[in-house]
Formats: sequence, structure tokens, C-alpha cells
Amino acid sequence: MTMTARIPVAVLGATGAVGQAFVRQLADHPWFVLAEVAASERSAGKTYREATRWLEGTLPDDVAGLTVRTCTPSAVRAPIVFSALDSGVAGDVEAAFAQAGRLVLSNAKNFRMHDDVPLVIPEVNGDHLCMLARQQAVRGWNGAIVTNANCAATVIASALAPLHAAFGVRQVLAVTMQAVSGAGYPGVPSLDILGNVIPYIGDEEPKIETELGKLLGQLVDGEIVPAPITVSAHANRVPVEHGHTVCLTIGFERAPTVAEALEVLRAWKGHAGVAGLPSAPSPALEVTDAPDRPQPRRDVQCAGGMGVTIGRVREDALLHLRLVAMAHNVVRGAAGGSVLNAELLVASGAVHRESGALQLGALAGRQ
Ligand code: NAP
Repeated sequence: MTMTARIPVAVLGATGAVGQAFVRQLADHPWFVLAEVAASERSAGKTYREATRWLEGTLPDDVAGLTVRTCTPSAVRAPIVFSALDSGVAGDVEAAFAQAGRLVLSNAKNFRMHDDVPLVIPEVNGDHLCMLARQQAVRGWNGAIVTNANCAATVIASALAPLHAAFGVRQVLAVTMQAVSGAGYPGVPSLDILGNVIPYIGDEEPKIETELGKLLGQLVDGEIVPAPITVSAHANRVPVEHGHTVCLTIGFERAPTVAEALEVLRAWKGHAGVAGLPSAPSPALEVTDAPDRPQPRRDVQCAGGMGVTIGRVREDALLHLRLVAMAHNVVRGAAGGSVLNAELLVASGAVHRESGALQLGALAGRQ
């Protein structure tokens, strides 16, 4: 798709770990230009360079000089707003932006499980974006909120989606090994995590267990019917910088052989319209036969951090199959996933490709 002008976008919570990933993801984006950054009162009024402890790569000059704004619709004017806000404040702030007519793409947990709010991984359930018209009607908003999933749930749902579509996933045991960057910045104290494994991440297991049903659920008459999957999650923090690794044991309605599962995973293209978007990985899933992969150190930058790598697909004595999946938590599981959601909305016509205005009528009949 060619676009004559880029759509101005803003990042709320731009100074944090996910906010910085947005700045990297949006640098030289063909459709969007980062016009505004916002964060807490502590940062507002400073330049982005002064307010931010920049963590990775080169801070783009055009962003470094932006003045950090407060997270209010009067201070931030862009029609598309990416939110990397702490969940303690995200709820009220994101609702205020949606009410003020903006499209909010949120990484926070606050709205994920609301009935009228799409929880979207584009390849897995891009069709759920059709719920947005109902959201506007229910809430009386001119804008809208789209959420992306918890970062570990993103890895799990991405790996399960093709298998669920083909064989009907019914039970999942998920053991996660989650990177330190998943806790934001400064995150977990070094003396707690170096040389250690912490078998607890607050609120993570319930998020994985509930979000999976919605992500893999079906949209019926504008509402999500959750997938009937029983999920047991163990969430662990490990001394890895980026990349959540998940060991999955899976039970099916119709158990596939290992060869059948591999064929389905390799053939997976995901929701129509995602392939070819600027941030979409190709292939949709990276499936490896190497006996010792995926590994965060070697595979986390797959497809610029947007790739989900799957390996070790094998039979299981307890349920039916086992596998290991891994993806970049801050890119695929957060900022990159949000940008891909926005790209899908633009490509589908639900966002005007120059002004960024919402035109949700374009989604009608796409379910
Ligand atoms: P973080 O590093 O702690 O950053 C939090 C951001 O929120 C900062 O920009 C901070 O601004 C801003 N903020 C805090 N209090 C505020 C307030 N009262 N008003 C306005 N802004 C405020 O956290 P993070 O890891 O980037 O996570 C951001 C969100 O993404 C969270 O909801 C998290 O659950 C979610 N998420 C994170 C990951 C991950 O892998 N890290 C993955 C998926 C989803 P100041 O610098 O001014 O304080």
C-alpha cells in the first residue's frame, strides 16, 4: 500500500521499557510518524532525551528533542495513541483518550478482558477488531481502545492458534521462563535475579489462563465466545534480558501426529491481510528442527523481534504433544504487536490512511 502522508501518532508512557520499544519500532515507519511523546508529571516539560534513561541502540535525533507532554487529550493531539502506560494509571487515561475520539492501542491489562474491547494478536484473531463498532455504541465513545495480550500469553497463543484451528486444543500446561525486561525499567533488582530463578510473577498466571480463551475464541454476532481450553500456567522470572520462552504440553480434541502438527505450524499464514504489513514477520511462525532451539540469545531478534520461534515439537506421555515457543516480550509481546494492530486497522480501511481518523464502517461484514 502506498501512502502519500504519514499519520501522526503519539506514545503514552514513552519513557519506559515498552515506550522506548515504540520509539524504535516507529523510527522510519512508512505509514506513521512519531509526533508526540508523553509520560508522568515527573517527566513532562523535559526533552525526551532528558527524561529518558535510553536503554538500547541509538535514540533517534528527531525524537530526542521532543518535549514530553502530560498524558491528557488536550496535551496530546495525535489521532492514534500507543499506550505503554503503567496499569496503575492506564485505565482512566486510555478511556479519556478514547472518549476524546482517539484510537488507543494499549499494552496494559486494564481493558483486555472487557466484553466490548478487542484483545488482538493480528495473525491469531485480527477478525476480533470488528468488535470496535459495538464498543463505540456501548461506551458512547468517538474513539476506541484495542488491547494486545500479556507478553507470555502472546507467545502461547501464537504457537497454539494453528494447532487449535486444525485439531482443537483442549488442555494446556504452560511453564514460562520470562525475561527481566518484562518487568519494565528498572524492574527486578539485580541481586534478586542474577544467578537465580524466581518462581513467581505477580498476576501473570491468571492473565495467561484467562486471556488465552479470549484470544483463541470465536467472534459470534459481535461477541467473543471463549475457546473451551483448560489452562494451567507456571510463570517464572529468569536472568535473561529479552525473550519469553514457554514450554507447552498440549491436549487436543483430535490428537495430531508430530508430523501433522509440524505441517500445520509451517503452513500457518494467520489472519488474512496481515502478511505483507510493514511490521509483520515472514513466515508467520519460525519453526525449527534444531534439537536445542529456540533460545532467547540466538532467536530473539528473529524478524526484527516480531518473530515467534517454535521448536522441540514432540510426543507427550501425559497429554498429546509438547513444544517450546519463544518471542521478544517487549517487541512481539508489546510495542511491535501494538504497531501491527494499528497497521492492520489502516490496511483494512478502519483508519483513514492520511488523517488517521477512525472510519469503522470499513470493518462491517468482515467477521
Ligand atoms: P515501565 O518501564 O515501568 O514504564 C512505565 C511508563 O508509564 C513510564 O513511561 C512512566 O513515565 C509512565 N507512568 C508511570 N506513572 C505514570 C502516571 N501517573 N502518569 C503518566 N505516565 C505514567 O513499564 P513497561 O515495562 O514499559 O510497561 C508498560 C506497560 O506495558 C505496562 O502496563 C506493562 O504491564 C505492559 N507490558 C509490558 C511488557 C514488557 O515486556 N515490559 C510486555 C507487555 C505489556 P515516567 O518515566 O515519567 O515515570
